[in-house]
Amino acid sequence: MVAVSKPRGTRDFTPEEMERRRAVEKKMREIFESYGYREIATPTMEHMELFTMKSGEGVIEETYSFHDKSGRMLALRPELTAPTMRFYMEKMRMSPKPLKVYYFGNCFRYDRPQKGRYREFWQMGCELIGTDKPEAIAELIATAYHVLEGTGLKNVKLRVGDLELLRSFIKKLGVENSEIMRLIDKSDYDGVSELIGEKEGAEEFMEFLNCRELDSLKKFFGGEAGRIESVLEWLSSFGVPYTLDTSIARGLDYYRGIVFEIDAPSLGAEKQLCGGGEYTLLPLLGGDETATAGFALGFDRIVLALEKEGYEFPLPEELVYIHPIGDEMRKEAVLLATELRMKGLKVEMDLMRRSMQKSLQYADRIRAKKAVIMGPDEWEKGMVVVKDMKTGEQKEVRKEEIGGYL
Ligand code: AMP
Repeated sequence: MVAVSKPRGTRDFTPEEMERRRAVEKKMREIFESYGYREIATPTMEHMELFTMKSGEGVIEETYSFHDKSGRMLALRPELTAPTMRFYMEKMRMSPKPLKVYYFGNCFRYDRPQKGRYREFWQMGCELIGTDKPEAIAELIATAYHVLEGTGLKNVKLRVGDLELLRSFIKKLGVENSEIMRLIDKSDYDGVSELIGEKEGAEEFMEFLNCRELDSLKKFFGGEAGRIESVLEWLSSFGVPYTLDTSIARGLDYYRGIVFEIDAPSLGAEKQLCGGGEYTLLPLLGGDETATAGFALGFDRIVLALEKEGYEFPLPEELVYIHPIGDEMRKEAVLLATELRMKGLKVEMDLMRRSMQKSLQYADRIRAKKAVIMGPDEWEKGMVVVKDMKTGEQKEVRKEEIGGYL
């Protein structure tokens, strides 16, 4: 047992895990960039106020916050949308529109840890600023879907809803917005039923919440579902399969209009991989009513879902191992290692002065593809031995030609 362990809800990652994570991250970045998004980065900590302004005082409970040495209340970011909006207000307001930015970073929440729920986790996400055209929102949703698909995930389910429609219904019912939205967000339909009781329109509202087809949705609004209809049509043009879901509430008050969620059903309880939609935050930060929309993907859950689906992660680039025989060959080994590294190969050499047998056992354990054995006699003749670690086959090759054998 070590004297100090890591904080609850945080994780260490082994080299193997990091290789997997970096491979997934790389694919995700490629898709974001293929849609024209460019990466930004913001600080790990922000003024607490940024998050309370966005999500209310309640957020303090679930945020890691502290007073710094001069008494300012800071918070480890629980998400990256508010920091991005702050950054936009401070530095990016004049950027040409639409502005497309993406980010990848660790977030911190005082959540109850379980599989797929951590206190430190990673989000990759984006914001689309300056347009609310239906094809723009459809493209945003398509980006999220294609990023997930691009990682190799097979089974993801996209649901799209419209908060305008939901809120207009709630208004008609005359119940308190935040309470009913909270229940809907938790899919607590019994709770919703209880709250709206026998109110006029209650039955119709429950029917609306259960509506999953555009045609039936249109019936609630005299044959026209407005914006969502158009966004869904565009979504089909982007080749993205979706389900309509009138019951997406997205919990927080700043969401407006079109909202969406993507799940990996294989993950069980913590199955949500992505949440996003249109929102209004800039006015809270003193800005104009510029159109803003975005989404965040739970990176850790994506990796978990890939593992669950039995995805074969790409193997890391193959390693070459150099074993010099005897002390006089060590310097030559350093020179050869440097030369091969300059050619772009991954190279390790014996740093423990091991015997050949032990050295090659180590090479095997670190899964080296080839071993280069440098013996003084062969070296004198301008030769080295290249051993294929898989087949055990050995070949004497000229040192200038070694590149062709690795
Ligand atoms: P949110 O900012 O709450 O909409 O979260 C966006 C995505 O981040 C979710 O859909 C999850 O995939 C992921 N996520 C949120 N909280 C956690 C957490 N505590 N641990 C791991 N992933 C999380």
